[in-house]
Amino acid sequence: MMTKATHKSAVQKSLSQQTVAVRGGLNSDEQHGAVIPKISLSTCYQFEEFGKPRQFDYGRKSTPNRDSVETTIATLEGGVDAILTNSGMSAIHLLSVALLSPNDLVVAPHDCYGGSYRLFNSLSQKGYFKAQFVDQSDLEALKNVLALKPKLVLIETPSNPLLRVVDIEQIAKLAHEAGALVLVDNTFMTPILQSPFTLGADIIVHSCTKFLNGHSDLLAGVLVFNNQTLADHVLWWSNNIGTANSSFDAYLLQRGLRTLSVRVLTQQANALSIVAFLANHPKIAAVHHPSLPSTPGHEIAKKQQKGFGSLLSFELNTSADNIPKFVEQLQIFTLAQSLGGTESLLSHPTTMTHSGITAEARQAAGISDQLLRISVGLENIDDLINDLEQALAVI
Ligand SMILES: *Cc1c(COP(=O)(O)O)cnc(C)c1O
Repeated sequence: MMTKATHKSAVQKSLSQQTVAVRGGLNSDEQHGAVIPKISLSTCYQFEEFGKPRQFDYGRKSTPNRDSVETTIATLEGGVDAILTNSGMSAIHLLSVALLSPNDLVVAPHDCYGGSYRLFNSLSQKGYFKAQFVDQSDLEALKNVLALKPKLVLIETPSNPLLRVVDIEQIAKLAHEAGALVLVDNTFMTPILQSPFTLGADIIVHSCTKFLNGHSDLLAGVLVFNNQTLADHVLWWSNNIGTANSSFDAYLLQRGLRTLSVRVLTQQANALSIVAFLANHPKIAAVHHPSLPSTPGHEIAKKQQKGFGSLLSFELNTSADNIPKFVEQLQIFTLAQSLGGTESLLSHPTTMTHSGITAEARQAAGISDQLLRISVGLENIDDLINDLEQALAVI
């Protein structure tokens, strides 16, 4: 296996996350002293002399912009290294290819991100590896599947769209006892609100498309490691397959990361106000948010998270026939199925993210036709609540 030249800028552990995110890659230009890092578009790098490559040689392996973002994200998560990819799905795909052989088993949550479910399911059907999906809050079911000695266990918490929380520390401990590596999808929480390495994760994945970039204008994914040997192994595969993203997108992601902390905390404060508003509204049947004792895993969330986040879902107390009217009456919330951007988005799982599964499967998963999910943005909170109020008034 190819080993990686030490290409990372030093990972600094002593600074707060806020400072690390704001200052990532600053002052790295020795030629002109540019404060903000340049976008380095070159795909290849001149050798210093015959037989002597520099820090970078070819862009599929690494580039200055990717390197800088990888260092920032690794530091934010308390890891030693990170690998940036062109989407969250390509990060998960990369890890599967790097770690799993045809007889290896991956265990994922029954309610994991739809794309992860589809990826594991389709690749296992082609014989690349085996996959099992399990409700990880059901300890018996979890132990039964761990008895099959999986190679990799994916944990994703809080879940989508019901925001159920599972215990990372407990699942990671059981998975380790079974000999598995533990991958945590930390997309919904971000490193600001949840630190999976301190809870036993071996690898962290993010869809940087969501909160890490935060502006809904690029696709990217990242794998974060706390073990350099494992990181080097996966980096070899990243270069082998070609999962890198562009330097321009890495530059934009670094820019988005500078405001991560303020964005996440303000979006969360907005979300808490919306939860309080919806929870007391007569036309709302249920609200799902880890801050609420009625949401499964609330006690675990208090223990393992540093906040409750800005994703929430709710059910209207009326016929699903009223959903289009309610959604069309909204002036601010945009009907779209991503999350984590500065703008508030609303989605209807039945007709959008979860339209690919049968009505029975949706029902079994607790996803009613009256369920709507909100990714709360950075707009003024009174404007957001007034918008919901006037739209609820017409149904
Ligand atoms: C969006 C998302 C992904 C996939 O990321 P892409 O960047 O869209 O490929 C994976 N996991 C979670 C939890 C997500 O929300």
